[in-house]
Amino acid sequence: MRLHLEHALLDDGVHSDVLLEIEHGRIKSVGAGGQFWSREGEVSDDRRQFPRAPGETATETETLPGLTLPGLANCHSHAFHRALRGHTQTERGSFWTWREQMYAVAAGLTPDSYFELARDTYAEMRATGITAVGEFHYLHHQPDGTPYDDPNEMGKTLLAAADEAGIRIRLLDTCYLASGFGRAPEGVQVRYSDGHAEKWAERVAAFDDPRVGMAIHSVRAVPRAQIPIVVEAAQGKPLHVHLSEQVAENEACQYATGMTPTELLAEAGALGPLTTTVHATHLTEGDIRLLGRSRTNVCFCPTTERDLADGIGPARRLRNSGATLTLGSDSHAVIDLFEEMRAVEMHERLATHKRGHWSARELLAAATYDGHRSLGFDDAGRIAEGQRADLVTVDLDTVRTRGTGASPETLVFAATGADVVQP
Ligand SMILES: [Zn+2]
Repeated sequence: MRLHLEHALLDDGVHSDVLLEIEHGRIKSVGAGGQFWSREGEVSDDRRQFPRAPGETATETETLPGLTLPGLANCHSHAFHRALRGHTQTERGSFWTWREQMYAVAAGLTPDSYFELARDTYAEMRATGITAVGEFHYLHHQPDGTPYDDPNEMGKTLLAAADEAGIRIRLLDTCYLASGFGRAPEGVQVRYSDGHAEKWAERVAAFDDPRVGMAIHSVRAVPRAQIPIVVEAAQGKPLHVHLSEQVAENEACQYATGMTPTELLAEAGALGPLTTTVHATHLTEGDIRLLGRSRTNVCFCPTTERDLADGIGPARRLRNSGATLTLGSDSHAVIDLFEEMRAVEMHERLATHKRGHWSARELLAAATYDGHRSLGFDDAGRIAEGQRADLVTVDLDTVRTRGTGASPETLVFAATGADVVQP
């Protein structure tokens, strides 16, 4: 298959008249600026000769108008939270009152209703340019806490939903054992708990699907002594964990352990380039140094963090210390990675009274290549030879994008998920 892209976001910026040769879902060669490079290093100025194969006509190369970029990676999703959109915005409250409403949805889900909800949520992601999702999954068991006949039924339900929606998924099977420091699971949380990290690890080991990764719900939900068990089980795979979304979590952790949540994770050996800490909102300077030095990923979810009144995390300082930014839509109050990119910069402006903390290309890297890598998809997120051909095209002639130009700034500061061209 051959594609002629009117404009394309490559590693070094936007190019015009880019030709792609795609084979078995991967990019075989990329040509730009009127020249075409093949895997063998062949160069030609004549686009009529290459990448056309002998006997083919030029019309077999399909042209895509607009600006094409690598598919976006949504690194933090709880698919079932989508059911809350439009229903939890009617009252006052905090993260904790919102959580009660979220728990009410969790209590009623069956494999069938979970499948439908997740399928529709993933379909919305696909429609807005997201081609890969990290699903942070902890709704494992029946309402009374009894495992289903297949203890991984709910996880398999999510994989099936992703297949039907046509989205690449990393199922982050989440260990969730406690209601808080020293507190047993309460209410609907019995659906989340495997009782002990060893039991969680046994269940996940039986899953036997290469798309499964691991997660620690948070330092409040996995006892300190059991965190290393999860870390051990996740060796070589992506490990995700909620971190310091709430001041109350920090205070409870300090009270119970004398450490910040980041320090506790560092003690357990949980930080590193395969680890993604989600939110990272309320951090000390020492926490920022620990995350940076260990090259941990930090997944910001700005539209959720503002919906839940969480606060504004230190994204730029984390990046400057060595951490890598990724993005997620988390509770799905909004599903639009373009808005998540934009919000990182805009929130920093509001917090600092200064503009220009992040370049558009840095934010695009977070939403594409860095996001994919944090999910364990090292071969996606770039338009480059050998990469998966997960492509998304933004229409440059919509009411929002007209006149803005084919540039990274258009993608981050003008476009929305509604401007993605539908196949
Ligand atoms: Zn979350």
